[in-house]
Amino acid sequence: MDSELVFKIILIVEFSIFSIIRIRSQRSASKAGYRTVIEESKKYSVFLALFICYEIFTLFLYLLSPVSLTWATVSMPPALRWLGVAVGIMALALFVWVHHYLGKNFSTSLKIKDNHTLVVTGPYRWVRHPMYTAFCLLHVAVFFLSANWFIGLTWSIGLAIIIALRIKREEAMMVQIFGEHYSVYMKRTGRFIPTLKRTT
Ligand code: SAH
Repeated sequence: MDSELVFKIILIVEFSIFSIIRIRSQRSASKAGYRTVIEESKKYSVFLALFICYEIFTLFLYLLSPVSLTWATVSMPPALRWLGVAVGIMALALFVWVHHYLGKNFSTSLKIKDNHTLVVTGPYRWVRHPMYTAFCLLHVAVFFLSANWFIGLTWSIGLAIIIALRIKREEAMMVQIFGEHYSVYMKRTGRFIPTLKRTT
């Protein structure tokens, strides 16, 4: 089989599994009641919706009409493409792990659920935003699998803006609800990757 086709199939499979996990968790988490403590800005919500549409559109363009994006092809050795496969599998494993521990506390927008608990186990033991780490890894994987700099660059910039706009509000909300517990937790954890900081 043509190797380009193999990487395309892997890209579709990894992206689809990610989306299925997301939709399923969204459904089960939406059953719990919630309250909004810090309102998400309108700009953020609009940007997020447009960005998701943009990603789906460019992905379909890449898969169904590759000619339209060949001008942005990067020549990559097969080892880098396979690295993309491995990074994608890591992203998926982390995503599953995160959802398992976050459980019903998960929400797509900033919300505090009824009976919300502060999760500090599983990946949250070391990192405050492992789900965003999983998204970053998925985007790295998509770049290597597609070998297309336009997709890699625009997807990464979009994701960086989304995370940057979200993270301060999310942490402020958590401090507002969990107070000292979250402040102490912030001191001993990294945002996206574990830190060596120690508080005794
Ligand atoms: N930022 C986290 C979670 C993303 S889901 C991550 O990247 O893993 C967003 C929701 O998760 C937020 O609305 C917030 O209510 C909740 N949340 C974030 N961190 C949490 C934690 N440590 N424990 C419980 N809920 C958390």
